[in-house]
Amino acid sequence: MKKRSDSVPAKQRIDQMLSKLKDHDFRITPQRLAVLKVLAASEGHPSVEQIYEQVKRRFPTTSLATIYKTVTLLKELNEVLELGFPEGSNRYDGHRPYPHPHLICTKCKKIIDPDLNSLEDLAKEVTKETGFQITTHRVDFFGLCRECQ
Ligand SMILES: [Zn+2]
Ligand SMILES: [Zn+2]
Repeated sequence: MKKRSDSVPAKQRIDQMLSKLKDHDFRITPQRLAVLKVLAASEGHPSVEQIYEQVKRRFPTTSLATIYKTVTLLKELNEVLELGFPEGSNRYDGHRPYPHPHLICTKCKKIIDPDLNSLEDLAKEVTKETGFQITTHRVDFFGLCRECQ
């Protein structure tokens, strides 16, 4: 099976997000840029609160509302993937902004991207079997990470 090299460097993701924002005439403030950097670099799927904590270190006057607005904007532009949970905060992936499977540790709440591409084949198979037009999918594996076992 061909290995999908979908893990683009953070720098490249930041550039992609920036050009998308510019296309839509959004002003790039230093705070917004800081949010993009956290989202593009983080493999940990941060919550808005976690992004806020990081951005606040460099920009102490940043408000949580600013972070929310920027994340929502990027979500609307399909530049960030939102993972909602019935309990607990939504988590965000700006590194891979398209549907992909996640491994979720129920103890430390860590979320990681497993390196597998069989899910795309699965989506194709489901389409073939059911005639369903699949627009998106969400696959979460819950369990305990190595550190928490
Ligand atoms: Zn864990
Ligand atoms: Zn992810």
